[in-house]
Amino acid sequence: MAKALVLEKAGRLALRDIEMAETLGPEDVRVAIDTVGVCGSDVHYYTHGKIGPFVVNAPMVLGHEAAGVITEVGSDVTDMGVGDRVCMEPGIPNTRSKAAKLGAYNVDPSVQFWATPPVHGCLTPSVVHPAAFTYRLPDHISFAEGAMVEPFAIGMQAATKAQLKPGDVALVTGAGPIGIMVALAALAGGCAKVYISDLVEEKLSVAAQYDNIEPVLIGRDDPSAVVRDATEGWGADVVFECAGAATSIQTALDAVAPAGCVVWVGMPVDPVPVDIVLAQSKEIRMETVFRYANMYDRAIALLGSGKVDVKPLITETFDFENSIEAFDRAVEARPTDVKIQIRLDRA
Ligand code: ZN
Repeated sequence: MAKALVLEKAGRLALRDIEMAETLGPEDVRVAIDTVGVCGSDVHYYTHGKIGPFVVNAPMVLGHEAAGVITEVGSDVTDMGVGDRVCMEPGIPNTRSKAAKLGAYNVDPSVQFWATPPVHGCLTPSVVHPAAFTYRLPDHISFAEGAMVEPFAIGMQAATKAQLKPGDVALVTGAGPIGIMVALAALAGGCAKVYISDLVEEKLSVAAQYDNIEPVLIGRDDPSAVVRDATEGWGADVVFECAGAATSIQTALDAVAPAGCVVWVGMPVDPVPVDIVLAQSKEIRMETVFRYANMYDRAIALLGSGKVDVKPLITETFDFENSIEAFDRAVEARPTDVKIQIRLDRA
């Protein structure tokens, strides 16, 4: 038994003891959790009890964005040791699956992902995890930053799928946490300028504290027009659609340049119509992302080099004892809140 933040059912959280898998296999490491980020998906399970086909039918431990310290290694783990500071990839694929062999282990149908029912998450003092999906952090990178690698990896996946070229101009639609992560990854990937659009001014001001991220307030300015003005009428080389709303999906197709690329990152709640002829008339490329594969090393390298700074995005940190308060704060969805984190006591 271990203490954990348990989602009992939609709308009800408890900080209580629960049975957790604790057996250390030969290729596993045991990690004392230090910091866990609260993600939109955790919050959605809390408020709705489900996301699409994934339904919380039994008590489930929340949390999937984590960093901590290795306290024990399995008998076959030779490249990591006790005391190593690490962050973990929350999805564990079947490494013998066809998806894994193709390098797209994120789309392995049998992937076991933290805090996706019925799999427990990591808001508990200690977890057992495969060494293969555990990554060492540079000494000067904090656990708080380490816990940001997970959402940043989604930005990395989007930027990689876009096949960015140096000097590209991009538009990101939606300035939520993922939109900002995508914008940072796009800049790191070579974009000269990233425009980011949203309906909420406070969200844009968080994004706009970074050099070369230009805010576009919808209602005051039209994102497609702004991007066209900035590119002699050509449009954005890449549009990252991160809002998942029908209007922003149309904006993405309007704003993208001929022969450009749209990356669908946002997840519409219901199916939305897409103007295929507009896409065809510009012969654009479309890409999709589902989580990430093979992005952690690169994400950590960018944080370690100082090219990407996620620290300004960590809004507030709560103690493990106050985890429920942290979730209720996240439910409030204050426009200036980007990432709420929970700090565990490793004493
Ligand atoms: Zn997340």
